[in-house]
Amino acid sequence: MDTYLDHAATTPPRPAALAALQQWIGAANASAAHARGQQARTAVEQAREEIARVVGCSPHDVVFTSGGTEADNLAVKGIVWAARDSRRAVPHVVVSAVEHAAVREPARWLAERGDARLTEIAPGPDGRIDPQQVLAAVEADTVLVSVMTANNEVGAVNDVAVLAQALADSSVALHTDAVQAFATRGVDLDTVPLDALSLSAHKFGGPQGVGVAILRRGRAVESLAHGGGQDRGVRSGTFPAGLIAACGAAVVAADADRDGLVERLAPMSARLAEGLTALDGVRRTGPADPAHRLVSHVHVMIDDVDPSALVLELDRAGLAASSGSACGSGAVRASHVLQAMGAVGTPLRLTFGWTSTEADVDRALDVLTDVIARLRAGDAAGLSFAPHPASH
Ligand code: PLP
Repeated sequence: MDTYLDHAATTPPRPAALAALQQWIGAANASAAHARGQQARTAVEQAREEIARVVGCSPHDVVFTSGGTEADNLAVKGIVWAARDSRRAVPHVVVSAVEHAAVREPARWLAERGDARLTEIAPGPDGRIDPQQVLAAVEADTVLVSVMTANNEVGAVNDVAVLAQALADSSVALHTDAVQAFATRGVDLDTVPLDALSLSAHKFGGPQGVGVAILRRGRAVESLAHGGGQDRGVRSGTFPAGLIAACGAAVVAADADRDGLVERLAPMSARLAEGLTALDGVRRTGPADPAHRLVSHVHVMIDDVDPSALVLELDRAGLAASSGSACGSGAVRASHVLQAMGAVGTPLRLTFGWTSTEADVDRALDVLTDVIARLRAGDAAGLSFAPHPASH
């Protein structure tokens, strides 16, 4: 029997998203002048309007991308490059040290090239970022602050609203990666005024390969892809009407279901965390206060268990979870997030989504109780395993 507790990596598409995908996957080119092209364009623009309504911005602020990675890259590089062109000093950027690689790597790459100066803000031991430390790092030449709404590994939620308030009337652009937060927290730009925000459809019930960059008009952004000038010239490329329509449908469905989802998941994640931390040498990672962590995430550190063997044994038992982070060679090692938090032990992330049930919790507790005991007793089945992608 398979148990899927890796919704933070990808959650299954919702029925409304699948229906929209099927309806529009064969659409004509949405930039074509003929009737079929215009029908496709209507589907794209409807999705844009729905997304804008749900997140609380203007449809003009919505730019479609290939996913969270591109949305993050567009915000970070696009804002820095636009600023570089309009000023003499090298732009300064502040990011948190727990950002997903899709923010961290472009920020570091810009700094290595001399296109930016970079300050990284370390988290507390619970994985949260202190907004006052971020604000204290802002300098006269700071053009961008990027702090994720919620961390993908441990589910720690940051106080982006404090940053938004403090930076509202400044020349500093504030970006947040809300990829993990959208499913259970949502975003509301009406109350939290940000300049840029990233979403990825496959994290909340849409298909893989489509995402959204909210880029407020008035905040200059340099395009990464030059071409036909679609999406106000910020992101060229033929609109993938099927993916975009499905993304719009998923945003609407996830938004409508959010309260119910949180209500369903709260007891499940609490029971899983309780059951796991009742085992010897298993500690929950991340904020203690449920208000400061995603209800979808249960992250633990386990003592005296070989990380590679754990991954292998869980896979053999049909339990899909995430070991945190693995490098290209397949050797599991602590991610930059866990290192920055000073967490010790073998990491394990179990994440819930809209298809999760209480039976998943029962099964996960059974499997983990058994596997941890067996591994500690030296009953490992072997150490070869397929490398997992880096943190997602
Ligand atoms: N940002 C965060 C916080 C994520 O969890 C992910 C997904 O792994 C991404 C960005 C990248 O999104 P995508 O897989 O759509 O490129």
